[in-house]
Amino acid sequence: MSKQILVLPGDGIGPEIMAEAVKVLQLANEKYNLAFELSYDELGGAAIDKYGVPLADETLERARQADAILLGAVGGPKWDTIDPAIRPERGLLKIRSQLGLFGNLRPALLYPQLAAASTLKPEVVAGLDILIVRELTGGIYFGAPRGTETLANGERKAYDTLPYSESEIRRIAKVGFDMAMVRNKKLCSVDKANVLASSQLWRAVVEEVAKDYPQVELSHMYVDNAAMQLVRAPKQFDVIVTDNMFGDILSDEASMLTGSIGMLPSASLDANNKGMYEPCHGSAPDIAGKGIANPLATILSVSMMLRYSFAETAAADAIEQAVSLVLDQGLRTGDIWSEGCTKVGTREMGDAVVAALRNL
Ligand code: NAD
Repeated sequence: MSKQILVLPGDGIGPEIMAEAVKVLQLANEKYNLAFELSYDELGGAAIDKYGVPLADETLERARQADAILLGAVGGPKWDTIDPAIRPERGLLKIRSQLGLFGNLRPALLYPQLAAASTLKPEVVAGLDILIVRELTGGIYFGAPRGTETLANGERKAYDTLPYSESEIRRIAKVGFDMAMVRNKKLCSVDKANVLASSQLWRAVVEEVAKDYPQVELSHMYVDNAAMQLVRAPKQFDVIVTDNMFGDILSDEASMLTGSIGMLPSASLDANNKGMYEPCHGSAPDIAGKGIANPLATILSVSMMLRYSFAETAAADAIEQAVSLVLDQGLRTGDIWSEGCTKVGTREMGDAVVAALRNL
């Protein structure tokens, strides 16, 4: 039976990087008889232009029916001044929450070929392989009440709310422990339990879940310390599990340890491993339309999709190997370029991965 993949290229560099990822996916589809059928729709700014809202009801329905979703990136200056309730990013938050995609997996893996691209010393980052598990549908990005009001004295005041229920914490903690079990069996739970009530509950529930995973070595760390440790000695981490906002910030920080945000894929999974797969970066309006964006994060998102939603391990491994071979050839987009390498554009990089995959 065929499997339906909904492709949402999005805004800015989204369509450029997605075109390359789809080429790789189509080749994997043929080579490994995956029986994938692709359909396309819009999300974010492109959806505002087409439907008047960042996530149309029919798009959401298509996403519900699909077996997996591949997303580029959303947002851009064109939509920065519109009503905040229909900003492009609202479409992204809505599709994640409506599909129950609560578990965000963000690997930060340093390809040995790119050790020079990191701003940290090679000995600090060489061999780095961290997985950040970020809670994605709760916490301060969704909490109510939120808003801005004008006080009696005319001063404006704004507020957000950071709620977490026990069940929300338990299910993401389990994802963290499950991932640690298939990796190096070390889990660090990051919170701010010295200040926040939601973090105190977080820590207590993580401790409870830990009883089911006696082989996993659990530690707790405050988020400010975790931010520091990530640049001081990042290799101390195996899996990090944390809330929505802390995970947002720490995963961007971890991405820079690897040289470029343009290398990092991500998966957002529901309780049944149905997922949406997207690069960690945004729509990069500063380089959109120039044909220079790095498509590898999106191509590696395809490989995560094959691995986590479809258990097509051979095809997933082959895509990752093809990416590594292309880096061995010295091909680099501008964001990961260093002296002695060959600078290529988005399409050349995609074509090189396709050629490497074809020859495997
Ligand atoms: P960004 O990730 O788009 O860009 C940050 C920097 O990284 C820029 O200099 C950009 O050129 C560079 N960069 C990002 N991806 C790259 C790639 N593949 N190749 C080469 N360089 C790359 O973050 P930003 O500038 O803060 O945000 C731009 C827009 O993207 C905003 O509208 C923001 O809301 C949106 N955004 C969307 C997502 C998403 O769709 N998941 C995530 C973050 C930001």
